[in-house]
Amino acid sequence: MSWENNVRKVVPYVPGEQPKAEKMIKLNTNECPYPPSPKVMDALQNLSANCMRLYPDPAVTDLRQALADYYKVNVEQVFVGVGSDDVIANAFMTFFNSKKPILFPDITYSFYDVWAELFGIPYERIALTEDFRINPEDYKRENGGIIFPNPNAPTGVLEDLSMIEDILKSNPDVVVMVDEAYIDFGGASALALLEKYENLLVIQTFSKSRAMAGMRIGYAIGNEKLIGYLNDVKFSFNSYTMNQTSIAMGVACVKDDAYFKETVGKVIATRERVKKELKELGFSFPDAMSNFIFATHESIPAAELFEACKKENIFVRYFKKPRIDNYLRISIGTDEEMDTLLTFLKKYIAQKQ
Ligand code: PMP
Repeated sequence: MSWENNVRKVVPYVPGEQPKAEKMIKLNTNECPYPPSPKVMDALQNLSANCMRLYPDPAVTDLRQALADYYKVNVEQVFVGVGSDDVIANAFMTFFNSKKPILFPDITYSFYDVWAELFGIPYERIALTEDFRINPEDYKRENGGIIFPNPNAPTGVLEDLSMIEDILKSNPDVVVMVDEAYIDFGGASALALLEKYENLLVIQTFSKSRAMAGMRIGYAIGNEKLIGYLNDVKFSFNSYTMNQTSIAMGVACVKDDAYFKETVGKVIATRERVKKELKELGFSFPDAMSNFIFATHESIPAAELFEACKKENIFVRYFKKPRIDNYLRISIGTDEEMDTLLTFLKKYIAQKQ
């Protein structure tokens, strides 16, 4: 037993299931239902053996430059990592270094408390309002930093920039991180506030709107000083985190903006249609501005619907957690996939009534 006393014990984050079923409808981890741009596949074909033999560029300059050009910022303002999980973990380690608690919503991305525990960062969960909104007044207290997703996950609720600016104005002495994993599906990015607030870090990912979850690319944009500190920590941990394949495919992805916009447009159109149809079936949900809908049914418990869908090889996400244990988080798939889900739900609900 003695060696075990010295182990750093953690309760790990549990990622969504990646089922192996042959024929399934996978609406449980908010992936994009469409493939990445054909140009991304071309970039993969064009890779040489040298990209396996040699270490990748530790500064990831090509990808950072492509992102800097796209967002019209300086390359020194861009940090990249192996998915936004890696970016956020590095950012927690870099910027949340106070004895005062960091603040995040009680209903939010369930990795935040895991990183806080892992790094020994004190934290407080701030309750969202009854309708799952962030009340900025709750973030005007002593704290060691702030993080929240916008739109929030798993609720899909989008806050506007004035709310975010209110929080930034009241918290000039800590870093405020806005996790924009789902911002491309209809929200206004806090990137617009970067020039005014040097303590703002905006984090985005290629995993959702850019259809590249499997390649693991995330990034953060902030002022140069902030990004400099983030790089110091990253290079003190692991210099070569991003592999050359991801870098090359990521660059090709950023450069095909027409494809990106078309794909996001299709997901949004499907989401808006599915919202209407779910309402007709007796579901309600906070207005979703993400690539998922967080829905509860008027009579059938979410846990039951989750199991019933699973039996049909339709995978959605269910969180057995306070306040949200009667909700299903349903990612937006293709129109055909959503039709299969809706047809099944219609049949299931009818037979219960
Ligand atoms: N933030 C939020 C709010 C998320 O839902 C996710 C996806 N699980 C992530 C960050 C991490 O995504 P990735 O590491 O694939 O970029």
